[in-house]
Amino acid sequence: MITGGCHCGAIRYQVEGEAIVHALCHCGDCRRHSGAPMVGWAMYPEAALKVTKGTPKVYASSQHGRRQFCPDCGTGLFYVNAEMLPSIVDIQSATFDDPEIVPAQAHVQVAERLKWMERANELPMFQRYPPQT
Ligand SMILES: [Zn+2]
Ligand SMILES: [Zn+2]
Repeated sequence: MITGGCHCGAIRYQVEGEAIVHALCHCGDCRRHSGAPMVGWAMYPEAALKVTKGTPKVYASSQHGRRQFCPDCGTGLFYVNAEMLPSIVDIQSATFDDPEIVPAQAHVQVAERLKWMERANELPMFQRYPPQT
C-alpha cells in the first residue's frame, strides 16, 4: 500500500498493488500543466486508487485527457484518459509520501522533450547551491 497526497494535505490518497509502469513524461501538456520540465507518472488500474481525503479538481487538458489537482495548493495528482487508456490512472509519482519507493523505468514523449534536458545529467551539480563568490 502506497500513500500520498498534495503539498497542503487537503487531498490524500492510497494505491494498492504494483505499478504497471513508471515513466518520466516530457510532453508539452505535462510541462505546461506542472510548470516543470518533466513529470513522473506511475500507472495503475483505476480500481487500485482510492482518494481518502478531499476532492481533487478536474481539468480537461485535452479532448479526452483529464488532469486532477488539489484546488487549494495546485499540486498535480492524477491523469485519466478514458479514450486512450480506459480503466487506467496515472499518478504523479512525486506525490507519493515516499517518492523513492517506485523507481522510474523510462522516459516517454521524448519527441517533445526540451533540447537541454537531454544532457541535464551532465550539468554541474551541488549538494545545495553553488558557492558564493
Ligand atoms: Zn493541496
Ligand atoms: Zn505528458
